[in-house]
Amino acid sequence: MKEDKVYDCIIVGAGPGGLQAAIYLGRYNMQVLLIDRGGGRTMHARRIENFLTQKSISGREIIETGIEQAREFHVQIEKGAVYGIVKKEFFEVSAGDGKYLSRSVIVSSGAYDNLPPIENVHKFLGAGFYTCVDCDGYKTTGKKLVVLGNSLKTVHLALAMREMYTKDITLILYSLVPPEGYLEELKEDGIRFITDRPVRIIGGERIEGIELRSGETVGCDVIMSNFGFKLNDEFLSGLNLKRDAEGFKFVVNHNYESSLSGLYIVGPMNTGPDQAVIAAGEGAVAALDIKKRLLNP
Ligand SMILES: Cc1cc2nc3c(=O)[nH]c(=O)nc-3n(C[C@H](O)[C@H](O)[C@H](O)COP(=O)(O)OP(=O)(O)OC[C@H]3O[C@@H](n4cnc5c(N)ncnc54)[C@H](O)[C@@H]3O)c2cc1C
Repeated sequence: MKEDKVYDCIIVGAGPGGLQAAIYLGRYNMQVLLIDRGGGRTMHARRIENFLTQKSISGREIIETGIEQAREFHVQIEKGAVYGIVKKEFFEVSAGDGKYLSRSVIVSSGAYDNLPPIENVHKFLGAGFYTCVDCDGYKTTGKKLVVLGNSLKTVHLALAMREMYTKDITLILYSLVPPEGYLEELKEDGIRFITDRPVRIIGGERIEGIELRSGETVGCDVIMSNFGFKLNDEFLSGLNLKRDAEGFKFVVNHNYESSLSGLYIVGPMNTGPDQAVIAAGEGAVAALDIKKRLLNP
């Protein structure tokens, strides 16, 4: 064991979910260890505009301020990757070169986006190249938009984007040709449709277009990509936790507790929606539940 100490809670991941939980638990004077490997999706959000009281704030600022705030309430924060969790008398959390013991665990390790292999994707990620309608759809309002993906969900997304944000849309699907009914609907809505593979995003400060394998360049100001995401869940593989019907996301109760008592999962890894403000709320609820168990054991 790294230490003989038994923590009240170990939190995996310093995104909004984990940090909000840490702040609550720290303010209950609990012994809390937060382990984070750095990076994460919130860190990629350059301009968050939907967080109450924050007209515009970067994800980095949310995380850095959150870490400072948690430290003020004596939360111990360690840099490192958690690679395993086992439940015996206590939870044994393996990270770095040791194991830590805890009465409860909050998992808030988030997800990572499936980004298409296109030159300059990382340069424009969060700055014209978007992956989440709820986060950044608004920023496409009135703009020349490319919707990118390869499923019927992407077609639905293009049709919905037209309703909500902009009439100037080109839909690019890698290989899928949608059924006839969809093609008619796209035509009626004035959405241009192309089947091809993008190879490069063009632009200096801002996106100016997207170059396709065929050599064609589609001019655009913004791109909405729709290739889904994967969960940062490798370290949970030994616990046999209940997942949804697709075997993808983790099933939790109304306090965000998983099928294993004492282990909570907040943020996009559970079956709820994927938003920074929601992950933070879920972290608060999980922390309240951990405190409630002290009051009503
Ligand atoms: C480009 C972009 C823009 C976005 N814009 C918005 C927006 O405007 N508004 C909004 O509400 N939401 C936005 N989001 C979504 C938001 O970032 C997520 O909903 C949010 O990340 C969820 O918070 P989280 O705490 O679950 O995870 P994250 O922020 O992803 O944090 C997870 C943390 O866990 C760490 N971690 C992962 N695995 C391990 C491990 N094994 N051991 C230790 N640490 C680990 C990661 O390194 C990371 O630090 C955006 C996302 C992206 C990608």
